[in-house]
This record gives sequence, C-alpha cells and structure tokens, in this order.
Amino acid sequence: MEFHEDRYRQAQRPKYDCLLFDLDDTLYPLSTGVATACRNNIEDYMVEKLGIERSIIPELGNLLYKNYGTTMAGLRAIGYDFDYDEYHSFVHGRLPYENIKPDPVLRSLLLNLPYRKIIFTNADKVHAAKALSRLGLEDCFEGIICFETLNPIHKSTVSDDEDDIEFVGLSTAQIPATTTTSSSEIFDIIAHFAQANPSSKLPKTPIVCKPSEAAIEKALEIAHINPQRTLFFEDSVRNIQAGKRVGLHTVLVGTSQRVKGADFALESIHNLREALPELWEADRKSEVGYPGKVAVETSVTA
Ligand SMILES: [Mg+2]
Repeated sequence: MEFHEDRYRQAQRPKYDCLLFDLDDTLYPLSTGVATACRNNIEDYMVEKLGIERSIIPELGNLLYKNYGTTMAGLRAIGYDFDYDEYHSFVHGRLPYENIKPDPVLRSLLLNLPYRKIIFTNADKVHAAKALSRLGLEDCFEGIICFETLNPIHKSTVSDDEDDIEFVGLSTAQIPATTTTSSSEIFDIIAHFAQANPSSKLPKTPIVCKPSEAAIEKALEIAHINPQRTLFFEDSVRNIQAGKRVGLHTVLVGTSQRVKGADFALESIHNLREALPELWEADRKSEVGYPGKVAVETSVTA
C-alpha cells in the first residue's frame, strides 16, 4: 500500500522544479580559452589601472581569488576602489567571444526539460548576455542572476560603514609604516599570509559573489528558489560545496570525477541526459500519472 502511495506521490510531483546553471566553463567548455583570456585581462587591469607591480600579480591574484571568491571582490576588500562597470568592460571587453560557438545540442536538451531554468553567474550582465547569445541559448532561461543582481548599489567611495572601519583599524595596526609609504590604505594580504600565525582577520569585501553562502542564499531568495527542489550545475568545486551547504542538489560539470559535495559529476553538460535520466523520467511519469484528459491536453500543447 505504502509503496503504491509513494509511487503515486512521485508521479504527481517530480523531484526537482528548478535547474540553476553557472555560465562560464559550465555551459561552454574551458577549451574556448575564454577563462584564460579573462585571467590575463584581470592581471592587465591590476597593473594598468590600479598600478600594482607586475611581479606580485600571480601571488596576489591567487590569494584574492582564493579568499574572496573573485579577484574583483578581493581587490575591493584590500582597499582598491574602482568603477565596477569599467572593470567589467576592461576584463570582458576583449574576450575571444568568437570561440564560443552556437550549441544546438544543448539548446534542444534545455528546451526539452520541463523545469524552471535560471542562470547564476558572478559575471556582469553584459558578459552573460553576450556568452548566452553566442551559444544561441538566450531564450532558454527564465532569468539571469548576475553581478548586478547581487550588487545593485555601487559604493564608489570608501564609506564609513562597519566593514570599512574594521578594515581601516586593521591596516594601521597590522602594517608597519615603513612598508606602506606608497599605498598606506592597501591591506598587504601577501604579508598577512607570510606570517607564521596570521594574528589579524582579513578585511571584508563589499562585493556579494559565489562561493559565499550568503550570496547563494540571496540568489535563491531573489529568484524564489527552494534549494531542496533545485539542481545546481557548476564547474567550480568550491561553489558546488557552498551550494551543498545551503541545501542545493549539486552537479559538478567539467569532470566525471565526483568530489565531496557533488551529488553528480558530468564531463560535459552534453552528458546531462545520460547522467540524469531521472530529469526526463519524472516528466514521463508525471504525464502517466495524470488523468487521461489532462494527459491529452499536455500532448496537444507540447
Ligand atoms: Mg564557472
């Protein structure tokens, strides 16, 4: 009896109702070279626009990315101020978008999946729109959660809010005057991690982005997404793990090796149907489960 009831319930209601997709290196592969070009552009921005010495860029960039989710978020945290739109147009403006090709296979997979489909990217909306349009997927999603969604107000000047007070206090206490003659307001994160036992806390960033759990929760709230009923597709292991912590079902994309925090792993997003047949099965079951009349109507509109 119970078995039948469960089956019935399952037929009435599929396991998921939303598919949440990262964009870069998830919906198109790393081999486009877009990610590498992006990293190079960020490094050029740090040298040309922020006056950072080229020789420390690899180490600095790595520390910022590791500790703040994006280099941009890290640069803001340690005290650099710049216009977000200018940063994005510098970093994304010269990307080899021509390497992103239309993907009719993925398009057909997406259009045949009867779930809400939403993009969740740390990138800005111009980049997201360009990449989706190159892929030919611009009409496959209900919406895009991007940089501007999570960071609607640009604080162009260092304000007097809590975080900044904490930062100012830290930097003056932590860094000896002799090492800060050129840029006394910049927190020296390289020196911070060079300490055997870093005694201070890292300054906070005003930027909201993955993999912060707060950023993911904010995104879910904005789009009215229930994590328990959502599959989250991502190429970044740390974003997958953060997604898992907030209750999402997770699909690591770009490798078939599952890691901790990933419920599924796909070498390519094209393997969706083989790796997750339940996404299509749920649809078939639910149609079978409906009374005849509804099933007929469904097939007419499909
Ligand atoms: Mg990605």
